[in-house]
Amino acid sequence: MSVDGGVDRRQEAQPPGGGGGGNVNGNGVAPPIFPAYATHRLRLNPNTEHRPDSYEDLQLEFSPLLFSSLERYLPPNLLNVPRDAKVQYMREILLRYSPEGERTRVQRHREYRQKIISNYQPLHRELYSMQAANFFVPSFLKAINDNAEESFRSIMSEPSPGVFTFEMLQPRFCEMLLAEVENFEKWVHETKFRIMRPNTMNKYGAVLDDFGLETMLDKLMEDFIRPLSRVFYPEVGGSTLDTHHGFVVEYGMDRDVDLGFHVDDSEVTLNVCLGKHFSGGELFFRGVRCDKHVNTETQSEEILDYTHIPGRAVIHRGRHRHGARATTSGHRINLLLWCRSSVFRELKKYQKDFPNWCGECQREKKERQRQSIASTKLELLKREGEAAS
Ligand SMILES: [Zn+2]
Repeated sequence: MSVDGGVDRRQEAQPPGGGGGGNVNGNGVAPPIFPAYATHRLRLNPNTEHRPDSYEDLQLEFSPLLFSSLERYLPPNLLNVPRDAKVQYMREILLRYSPEGERTRVQRHREYRQKIISNYQPLHRELYSMQAANFFVPSFLKAINDNAEESFRSIMSEPSPGVFTFEMLQPRFCEMLLAEVENFEKWVHETKFRIMRPNTMNKYGAVLDDFGLETMLDKLMEDFIRPLSRVFYPEVGGSTLDTHHGFVVEYGMDRDVDLGFHVDDSEVTLNVCLGKHFSGGELFFRGVRCDKHVNTETQSEEILDYTHIPGRAVIHRGRHRHGARATTSGHRINLLLWCRSSVFRELKKYQKDFPNWCGECQREKKERQRQSIASTKLELLKREGEAAS
């Protein structure tokens, strides 16, 4: 995998809508293509005799009732076309008039989640609240309880600076979470639910926060990841992590195969393999970079290839460039928790000097220091020479 192609920024998918057209939610749904008859106008007065279709069974970003009432305002030639065509037409109109911005995005996402949570029946209720003794292996629990760098280091290895791996999840927990995700996917399939995939680079996988696991994952971040990131990643907001994006990704020949070279939209990322049986799928790391240096070359000491082991976690900075090699057989499913700090993000806007966590910035700084020392030495030698003569 070369860096030449550029490093992607893997971002959280956005809820459907948002201005119409364009694959905004990154879930592989093509932008709507409108037939020639579509001038996207409505009649001034409703056709009161027309009996509108029901849209209750569709998962849309606007209320089904809104579609039914809007239908009466459709141009006469559209009243009896297939329902899908009417939906497309009306959706385009609604999106055009729906105000943009964060507030509506958040609102759409809230409605999307609400739709899932009120319809989806969880398989393992015990996953939905934090039960640390059932979730984590004893060594991890003990280290977190001790809450000291020394105890963290005793259960971790650091195969490359800033990348830590450690035993974390019990096999039973991994199995339950895998079954829950499978159950959710089955529900999505059966109800033809229009699901949002976890981010802009994965076509498969599911956002755990969207089907009820948000509270449990918040606990996971606050009580189990923040103690570690406070110690190991203080310079990227590790002690002030306050929001997360939790999801699973699925790899295999009939799923996403690999994942290109990228940085995450997170300050700190937790990545735990849940199973199942697979070969390939190694995670490769190529150094931490700031925005300005994200495409600079990798130094040999920054190269790390890591082979996933079910139950074992990897944590790293979001800006640590990485990717996943092809999963060549079987299925690999990983739990990802992107942890973010709003404080860090706010402060970063005002930061003018070089970030100390970027490998390239550090290299440039060292080079400048080396040059300055060299020229000082030269100057001193010159003066000595002059004094001697
Ligand atoms: Zn830099």
